[in-house]
Amino acid sequence: MTDLYAVIGNPVAHSLSPAIHGEFARATGQDISYGRLLAPLDGFKAAALEFREGSGMGLNVTLPFKQEAWRLADTHTPGALAAGAVNTLKFEDGRIAGHNTDGTGLTRDLKDNLGCAIRGRRLLLMGAGGAVYGVMEPLLRELPQEVVVANRTLEKAVALVGHFEMLQKFASRGVTARPYGALTGLRFDIVINATSAGLTDVMPPLPRDIFAPGALAYEMVYGRSTLFMRFAVECGARAAGGLGMLVEQAAESFFIWRGVRPATAPVIRSLRQKDEG
Ligand code: NAP
Repeated sequence: MTDLYAVIGNPVAHSLSPAIHGEFARATGQDISYGRLLAPLDGFKAAALEFREGSGMGLNVTLPFKQEAWRLADTHTPGALAAGAVNTLKFEDGRIAGHNTDGTGLTRDLKDNLGCAIRGRRLLLMGAGGAVYGVMEPLLRELPQEVVVANRTLEKAVALVGHFEMLQKFASRGVTARPYGALTGLRFDIVINATSAGLTDVMPPLPRDIFAPGALAYEMVYGRSTLFMRFAVECGARAAGGLGMLVEQAAESFFIWRGVRPATAPVIRSLRQKDEG
């Protein structure tokens, strides 16, 4: 019998996950069906449990349900525990296991696809929402030199840095929160835009000399060249969009569910071609 999986969210019609997992299944010969599940804003738990009752084996969870998925899970991986959010649920032996694969998706894309080491580097993360909570623990485990979190609402960046205090030791020069206005004079090797500003083609206010020589500007929004990416290139940095992260986090979910690691490069390539086509 074909094993059932889905991505649950609201909205969910735009999700590329069915196409990505369909490609993974075809390439690895896994007999799965992967669909979209639109849950009412007040109906995540009921929809997820109903999917499990109908022989569903796992769910990817997208906005705005990642925290609710965390509460639904019986067990959490260290990354999911630290993030307080879950993007992958595995239904197994009557229990629900919660994972967060966003951070692994980002670190794999940076290191393996973009050839950008994290160890010993200076990182600037812009934003203090769910995406940053999801990626902090895996980024810190790569032993960067320093992580600065900048956010429009400074209190949220301060709260985020406090939340990860136990992991501060992984960055030799620590993790700090700053308003955008206090970035002047600082240089970073990796600048990650984890705000949703790219969706509306605005960008956080950055000084032009924020990028160290050879720096990478990483935009979590995918499928478009954003103002931040164009700004970074003008300032001499290399820019990359978040498609690789999306495909890598999906590959990690696929591995959690199926025990098989799909190749990601062909899927990233084909989605990029569709984008450009
Ligand atoms: P979120 O929880 O809603 O947080 C949004 C963040 O963006 C907040 O920190 C917010 O600042 C900031 N922001 C929004 N508009 C801004 C503006 N005009 N100027 C400056 N800051 C602004 O969203 P999220 O879940 O963290 O997701 C963030 C982005 O990452 C989304 O675009 C999402 O699609 C993307 N993402 C991509 C992947 C991937 O696989 N590629 C995975 C996860 C997320 P305030 O706190 O001041 O409101």
